[in-house]
Amino acid sequence: MIEQFKLLIIVSFLFSIAEFVKTRKLSLISYQDCFYLIAQIILIVPCIYYFKLFLITSSSFIGIHPSSIMEKQSLLSQVFLMLFFGDLVSYICHRLFHTRYLWLFHEVHHTTRKMNWAKAQVSHPIDSILTFGTIYFFVHMFSFSLESLAVVQLISLIYGFLSHSKIHFRFGFFDYVFISPTSHHLHHSLLKKNESCHKNFSSFFSIWDILFGTFQKPDSKPLTYGTNSRELKTLKQQLLSPLTKFLRKN
Ligand SMILES: [Zn+2]
Ligand SMILES: [Zn+2]
Repeated sequence: MIEQFKLLIIVSFLFSIAEFVKTRKLSLISYQDCFYLIAQIILIVPCIYYFKLFLITSSSFIGIHPSSIMEKQSLLSQVFLMLFFGDLVSYICHRLFHTRYLWLFHEVHHTTRKMNWAKAQVSHPIDSILTFGTIYFFVHMFSFSLESLAVVQLISLIYGFLSHSKIHFRFGFFDYVFISPTSHHLHHSLLKKNESCHKNFSSFFSIWDILFGTFQKPDSKPLTYGTNSRELKTLKQQLLSPLTKFLRKN
């Protein structure tokens, strides 16, 4: 865990410097952003451990066992396949989180009016657990190695920081292949009539958005970020308000 913290500090420092160089302003991250950054590091290892234990117990109970298909694959192919198909699973989860009830939880990720690299990790625990749990279910069922999972998590962390950072830029033609920072900034934007932009759900590969008709090519127009609801500013609001709204709707 110490190593993960060291890595987080180095990557965070590099992104803060890059944002400063780009904007000429030092943007300090909030205590809420720090909470999510630290919580993800502390909780990820025990979450994987207990979820793996649960899957092993339930699969021997149900009689469905993981396929060993990935065991013989090289680390590189495992990383690529996990990134590619994990992005499809993440795309499906993300679209579901933009529907009526799940939006209450995903709104926490969209609530900010100011983007920066640290916003990548801001998400309600229900959002993180359901999305990561679904991806990890497939990681377990296809016997991907823990090394490949660690590499993919590191790539996801850095790519997530880049997608949310103020150093956003477009990839030109490659916007049709990879989700550029500007494509993801568009996902966080408000369209006319304060309508949330339900486009660009993928994290890495634009192909999933193109395939399912949710791709929007970014342009250079300035964007307004946030949701059409009141901004959830405090940690208490971000963690409790989705739960109370969810209970009130039921
Ligand atoms: Zn979203
Ligand atoms: Zn985002």
